[in-house]
Amino acid sequence: MQISHATVGRLEIHGIADARPAPVDPTRSYPEVPRAAWEPHRRWLTGDGLFQPDLGCFVVRAPAGVVLIDAGIGPGPVPYLGDARGILRDALGTLGIGAEAVAAVIFTHLHFDHVGWASSPGPDGRNRPTFPRARYFVGRTEWDFWDRGPENVMAHHRDAFAEIVRPVEAAGLLTVVADGSSPIEGFVYRRLPGNTPGHQGVMATSQGERCLFAADICHSPAQIAETQWSHRSDVDPAAGRATRRTVFGELADTGTLLAFGHFPRGADLGHVRRDAGGWTWHSLGRSD
Ligand SMILES: [Zn+2]
Repeated sequence: MQISHATVGRLEIHGIADARPAPVDPTRSYPEVPRAAWEPHRRWLTGDGLFQPDLGCFVVRAPAGVVLIDAGIGPGPVPYLGDARGILRDALGTLGIGAEAVAAVIFTHLHFDHVGWASSPGPDGRNRPTFPRARYFVGRTEWDFWDRGPENVMAHHRDAFAEIVRPVEAAGLLTVVADGSSPIEGFVYRRLPGNTPGHQGVMATSQGERCLFAADICHSPAQIAETQWSHRSDVDPAAGRATRRTVFGELADTGTLLAFGHFPRGADLGHVRRDAGGWTWHSLGRSD
């Protein structure tokens, strides 16, 4: 399954797995977590005991129009992922959503697997915004970090910024907004430090119901219980741990839906519940 579904108030939410990378040994993604520690969480690994996160994003049909939360890996081919190609455009087609119908693209952060479809090649082969009528949003801290050309980042992130995000800026469709502000009605950025310097989630509210698009505060459902586990992409692991504990402590048992782009479809939308030992993940399609 590559598309999941949920409803929050008047919002229709669809989680889309733009791509699935080749599975890897979990110690590659979580270097500080011993292999044996995965045993209680084996259901979140493949049958071979490997880790295979979805590279996902979310599309929301809202009263204000169609909103994308992040934009997958893009049309590709993406050399870093073995020339993988994203399926977002086809998935939107399946949902009856054309590129012109997308009103807003809200970036949680600017890693390559979250900006991929922001632009795509036109007839002349040059990248231009994939969603020509959309306004694209990014938080101030995240924008400033990538805009100044950081040297200590992996090349595929830097290249994606230059080749995929810059054309959106050049077309005048990009708006940089204050951290924690509301880019469009019903959607509010929330600072969730740890994964990138300006990493944020997005809280969507409709008719008193809420969904937090929590971006990359977790890459596996196992981290709901194991909040001390850090994915290797976290620039500030201590901040990431604190963020998970703050968010789960605040939202557990409140009915607030959480959405995680890197969880397997079916397990990507769900609720955090408190139990004796901490927190557990209860996805709409599958429970931990
Ligand atoms: Zn990511």
